[in-house]
Amino acid sequence: MTVMIDGKALADEIVQDVAQEVSSFKLKHKVVPGLAVVLVGEDPASSVYVRNKILRTEQAGLQSFAHYLPENTTQKQLDDLIDQLNEDDSVHGILVQLPLPKHLSESRVIDAISPAKDVDGFHPENVGKLVTGQQVLVPCTPLGCMIMLKRHVDELSGKHAVVIGRSNIVGKPIANLLLQSHCTVTIVHSRTHNIESICRSADILIAAVGQPHLVKEDWVKPGAVVIDVGINQITSDGKRKLVGDVDYHAVFSKVSAITPVPGGVGPMTIACLIQNTLTAAKHQFGA
Ligand code: NDP
Repeated sequence: MTVMIDGKALADEIVQDVAQEVSSFKLKHKVVPGLAVVLVGEDPASSVYVRNKILRTEQAGLQSFAHYLPENTTQKQLDDLIDQLNEDDSVHGILVQLPLPKHLSESRVIDAISPAKDVDGFHPENVGKLVTGQQVLVPCTPLGCMIMLKRHVDELSGKHAVVIGRSNIVGKPIANLLLQSHCTVTIVHSRTHNIESICRSADILIAAVGQPHLVKEDWVKPGAVVIDVGINQITSDGKRKLVGDVDYHAVFSKVSAITPVPGGVGPMTIACLIQNTLTAAKHQFGA
């Protein structure tokens, strides 16, 4: 029988575990770990993500510092805020919500965040550590995918994992983490030939594309485990709804386990951000 991988329930567990650890951390260090979240502009989807991140941060007993900057914020103003947060001892993690307005440089902002406070794991130093297997702060979405996979696949070693998508924030880090778990990893992307047949050979299929229902029933191997990272807004029967990159209903009965959208990878991403904030705080206190 196919298992629906419940990301929301697993995320609740992680946040509860972090909340317990935060209590001990506070007793030990007399400090509450703090996460600063920076949002530039008023993009509706980003505003929802930031609101949820702050809510979860507070649920876990962490301190949150929200910085809402106007759309016309200059690069210098954003750089100055990052410098200030890097210096602030009450801030242990910094997250700048992406994408930024077009006139601001994302790479400059990512490079400016102190690697020790880089809870998104996007700083080149943390990317290098991830690739060489010394990671501390792993990007949240890939980390969430790995936690779900480890719960549902007895032995990752030797499995063929196919990752659709090669972005720096999802596809590439997931591929590296799978490789560290001894999977045989194939990355496919928009220029790949015969993508369906490559996907059909996957024991583990990760879709991180941003194309609604790209992955059809005949793209999956019977018994595969499917992780759907995609979040796509579509209109169906006159109603707006979120769907993944995988045609969930068509694929469901063929696979052994699959994440839904919504309620799969999304909640896990936020839970891993909370976990990363605690990890960053612990490291800053030498743990
Ligand atoms: P990007 O747009 O940065 O990357 C998309 C990747 O998909 C690219 O590598 C692109 O290939 C590849 N691609 C595009 N079209 C096709 C196609 N037809 N066939 C095969 N590959 C294709 O997206 P992200 O990695 O940032 O995000 C991917 C999805 O995950 C989005 O829906 C996003 O909203 C979602 N997301 C969800 C998160 C969550 O918490 N659940 C967190 C982050 C993202 P190429 O490189 O050749 O252009």
